[in-house]
Amino acid sequence: MMRKEFAELYLYAKKLGFITSVFSPIVSMGDEILKAFIASLPFNIETTLNAATHSKYKEITKTGLFKKHIQNIKVLLKNKIPVRVKTQITKQNIGQIDGIKRLVESLGLDFRPSTMLHARLNCNTRPCALRLEPKKAVSVNKRYGFFDEEESRRPGQKFDIEKLIGKPENDKLLTCAAGGHAFWISPEGKMLICGNLRMLDYDLSKRGTSVKQGFYKLHKKIHGLRFKTKSKCRQCEYRLICKWCAGRAILETGSLEEPIDYFCRLTEETLEK
Ligand code: SF4
Repeated sequence: MMRKEFAELYLYAKKLGFITSVFSPIVSMGDEILKAFIASLPFNIETTLNAATHSKYKEITKTGLFKKHIQNIKVLLKNKIPVRVKTQITKQNIGQIDGIKRLVESLGLDFRPSTMLHARLNCNTRPCALRLEPKKAVSVNKRYGFFDEEESRRPGQKFDIEKLIGKPENDKLLTCAAGGHAFWISPEGKMLICGNLRMLDYDLSKRGTSVKQGFYKLHKKIHGLRFKTKSKCRQCEYRLICKWCAGRAILETGSLEEPIDYFCRLTEETLEK
């Protein structure tokens, strides 16, 4: 929403038939953007609110836009525009968790906290220093709904952690759904099938390229990746429970295979709980 032509881009994407979600702090939403949302409803607007008070908001965002943020959430809701509020729980705002929950719920919305923080796409690991200690993170997840959410992702099935334990059957580096049914296009026109593994891309802006060709090429490349080192993760029986993945590893450690100590400790705590 920082771009002058946001409303025009948004309406164009809608006209092309995209199911459009907008991820934004929404503090810079003016009348023109609001009108565009009203004219053609987004699938969703997702905004992150990490504080319950002006001073905490200022400490975290380095802006004094707390009131504006809340006001804009209310404006969206008043105009029946679908909005979801997310909260990252960190060392900075753990003391306000109940206050944020009350605030979000007073707006008639669900409180959706996450304790997951990752290195930035430029490999800056500063956000990782704000992670809650694993014990605390697991207790927050348990108390505020993460475990329930895991269950609701498998309707009708009990979330059975025991079934997820076991040594990997092969040396495949990626065990996630990347490349199964979705891809992204970066602002530079590069197709990606993992948002973290940015070195694996396909340049759609070149002549003679196609979405179909790009997708299958990337799919082959990504699923052809194998462990080459004796990384602890290679044979780890907790891989399906752990938050570790090659994409997160490369951003945080500079290597596709290196374990992340925080995730090892988090996995231990999760298993205990
Ligand atoms: S980070 Fe630790 S717990 Fe997670 S897969 Fe690697 S070795 Fe296992």
